[in-house]
Amino acid sequence: MSNPIYKTMGQQFGRRSWAEPWKIKMVEPIRMISAEERLEACQDAGYNTFLMRSEDVYIDLLTDSGTSAMSDRQWAGIMMGDEAYAGSRNFYNLEAAVRKYYGYKYVIPTHQGRGAEHLISQATITKGDYIPGNMYFTTTRLHQELAGGTFVDVIIDEAHDPTNQHPFKGNVDLDKMKALVDKVGADRIPYVSLAGTVNMAGGQPVSMDNVKALRAFCDKHGLRIYLDATRMYENAFFIQEREEGYKDKSVAEILFEFCSYTDGAWMSAKKDHLVNIGGWLAVNQEDVAERARNLVVVYEGLHTYGGMAGRDMEALAIGIEEGVKDDHVAARVRQVRYLGKLLLDWGIPIMEPIGGHAIFVDARRFYEHIPQDQFPAQTLAAQLYLDSGVRSMERGIVSAGRDPKTGDHYYPALELTRLTIPRRVYTQAHMDVVAESLKALHDERKKTKGLKMVYEPEYLRFFQARFEPL
Ligand SMILES: *Cc1c(COP(=O)(O)O)cnc(C)c1O
Repeated sequence: MSNPIYKTMGQQFGRRSWAEPWKIKMVEPIRMISAEERLEACQDAGYNTFLMRSEDVYIDLLTDSGTSAMSDRQWAGIMMGDEAYAGSRNFYNLEAAVRKYYGYKYVIPTHQGRGAEHLISQATITKGDYIPGNMYFTTTRLHQELAGGTFVDVIIDEAHDPTNQHPFKGNVDLDKMKALVDKVGADRIPYVSLAGTVNMAGGQPVSMDNVKALRAFCDKHGLRIYLDATRMYENAFFIQEREEGYKDKSVAEILFEFCSYTDGAWMSAKKDHLVNIGGWLAVNQEDVAERARNLVVVYEGLHTYGGMAGRDMEALAIGIEEGVKDDHVAARVRQVRYLGKLLLDWGIPIMEPIGGHAIFVDARRFYEHIPQDQFPAQTLAAQLYLDSGVRSMERGIVSAGRDPKTGDHYYPALELTRLTIPRRVYTQAHMDVVAESLKALHDERKKTKGLKMVYEPEYLRFFQARFEPL
């Protein structure tokens, strides 16, 4: 027993690991191209990971949007597509699944989440309105602005501090809500835009207590709450894990209760629902549903397909049910946590507590010497790709865009590089490779220089902006 290998094994006795509730049936080969090829690919893409070819990427953590692996049941569902123009049976399966798990009355399919954001914004916002929300999301805020509204951030202050350990950093600050109502009047607020797990704050959840209190506040002032339900499954898991009284409730039960305090939701099914494309809008008000249904035929497609094929709706209906299962959500969140814990152990600054869908590296603290207008988070995303072919993305000053009034950059408090974990796609060994690459970059951080922006598109600039090294 003097061989060190046995010692390592011995240390593992008594250890109890969890594992994913699935096994692999089909694989897609991936490969890491050479360092020279990676440099060339990075230059061709203007140091923007959104402009890279996926074939040049080894481990793709750009997004968890539409990148999930579907199950054998979902693929079987694809074969059950009813491609009738109107009234496809797959639509009714989708409608039934949304009603069962989310509890809303009227369901309108859309091609993806932003299609639903467009409909709800156009159906409810008039010029000069204010839309309070627990931190902005890129497409959400843009649709609210394009409809003539102004977004107002009402998330608790803790959310802007990447080291604060508040268990529900997605919570709404009711004092900020009250201040807004006092200032502009409730009739200038078409709805509260509430996001379950706040993407831009690092995947941070909203507590049940908070949504209940918000409901009470909104009832008092006659306000509606529409939910960005994109990652509500993960939010429900955090409630189960952290909030008093929910330990023995299922993720599905928690989700249903949470949604009962809201008036409707929009959904990017490309996230929680384990499909590659799809979304929906669901509301309880008949008049809002009717307006949205009128708009959906203009922008998406008939109200019984909304830009999706019948087969897409079937895979989505099945995904709603698979994604909400406790063992699935637990494995998903724990894989993210596994990566995060490795990084924390090695002293790499990340957003805490570790969220549900991604690790957000705090690029401000990672590259302390790079000022925000030299794009530290964008720099880290480029460096990570150059080092190991891992693709991440920027969530900082580039994503925040410009203030339409002053034309200056928005300078967000958070300057983050996001490593987003697709669902059911990568193994723990992939997570090790990612963590080790970040460690290597962190060891050499002082040598790294920032970037300058050489091309800037007008809308959602992070998707297409180009950079050069300084
Ligand atoms: C992805 C996302 C959206 C937009 O959905 P798409 O399907 O990409 O159009 C909206 N809100 C949140 C929180 C998201 O993560």
